[in-house]
Amino acid sequence: MEIHRQTCQNCGSRELKNIIVRDFESSEKVFVRCHQCKQLVARYIIANRGYYHHGKGFESYLRGLNRGGTFMSGKGMKSEFEKISHQTQEEYQEILRQLEKEEKL
Ligand SMILES: [Zn+2]
Repeated sequence: MEIHRQTCQNCGSRELKNIIVRDFESSEKVFVRCHQCKQLVARYIIANRGYYHHGKGFESYLRGLNRGGTFMSGKGMKSEFEKISHQTQEEYQEILRQLEKEEKL
């Protein structure tokens, strides 16, 4: 696993803000803006079913699926949500452990 902490290419700041854009005709996008110099840092396109908002629960996850036009059974969605929630938290803990080791935090 390779971990990269994004910094502003203009001023070197790590204080970045995510601006999430939802357009019903295309994919969801995240624009990353530097909090210090206000420049655009990067843009990400969120993959279909790729968005997980921690602590927001199953209802929020379902709204995300609807935006992506995905159809799944209720049971399948609930178990996928639980899997993603668990997996994301595990990955996050692993990232934090690695960053602490590398003293990047
Ligand atoms: Zn900047």
